[in-house]
Amino acid sequence: MKKKVGIIGYPLDHSLSPIFQQAAFDDLNIDLSYEAWPLQLEEIPNFMQNLRIKPILGLNVTIPYKEIVIKYLDDIHVDALSIGAVNTIVNSAGTLVGYNTDIIGFSRSLDDFIDIDTISKTALILGAGGVARAALKTLILKGFGEIVIANRTEERAKKMAIEFSQNNVNINTIDIKDNYLANISKKSSLIVNCTSVGMYGSDQSFAYLEYSDISKDSFVYDMIYNPLYTPLMKLADLAGAKFSNGLSMLINQGVESFKLWTGQEPNFDIMLESAQNQMIKNQNQ
Ligand code: NAP
Repeated sequence: MKKKVGIIGYPLDHSLSPIFQQAAFDDLNIDLSYEAWPLQLEEIPNFMQNLRIKPILGLNVTIPYKEIVIKYLDDIHVDALSIGAVNTIVNSAGTLVGYNTDIIGFSRSLDDFIDIDTISKTALILGAGGVARAALKTLILKGFGEIVIANRTEERAKKMAIEFSQNNVNINTIDIKDNYLANISKKSSLIVNCTSVGMYGSDQSFAYLEYSDISKDSFVYDMIYNPLYTPLMKLADLAGAKFSNGLSMLINQGVESFKLWTGQEPNFDIMLESAQNQMIKNQNQ
């Protein structure tokens, strides 16, 4: 029977992983099919318990199951443990091990855009959800000394700041609606949007900042990749700052998942191109 890999989450209608992972398997003539399994919460326990005996080499896990799957695993990698979320599972003959490849995915993507050693290590993280935790961990590992987390629910940001506080990093929090956010934004060399504000289907504006709140010397990284040109990127563009969407992070985290399942190095460009083509197709539908 043909072995499978797949993604669990809900909903999965716009997931690009089945497209770019399958393109990478096919490119290397790896006999695996990548499937999308949109599961309801009540289906998770059965699915996870049966996973051990199924011809499924591994999984990607996305919203809203990145935390809940942890209790079904036999082991968890330190990166996943440190942010309390799993986005990749490897099934080795019935033993389930959880990983989080968002940290390395974000780290590689950032390295493609900015020379971390040449900027002041001040960052503003917008959001305090799952991907914000991966972003915070990445920036700490990259030596950022001053990090502010702005969130709609400030309590969540505070909890995260306490959890990640270390001697060599100063983490502060602010309500994302606070007017002082503009001052923090102006002083930040890196602004990372980890909220879902501006995502396809939501309000197409980023109401918490004006373009004049962004320094032209900043880099603005929006985790959102649908649309490819996000409302926050528009503000960065107007401010004359450099910016990126989150597509290259998505592909980079996918590269790491692929390596964990197969032990082989996939072709990044093929994955990126197939994801971009799919996005164009989706837009024309
Ligand atoms: P999540 O855990 O659900 O967190 C969502 C975050 O957005 C929370 O901080 C939430 O604030 C905030 N938020 C939602 N609606 C808001 C609004 N109207 N105003 C202000 N803040 C709002 O989601 P996640 O997994 O972290 O994902 C966040 C975004 O990153 C999504 O757009 C997702 O597609 C993207 N993402 C990209 C990648 C990639 O590879 N590029 C990977 C993962 C996620 P509260 O805490 O107040 O609710």
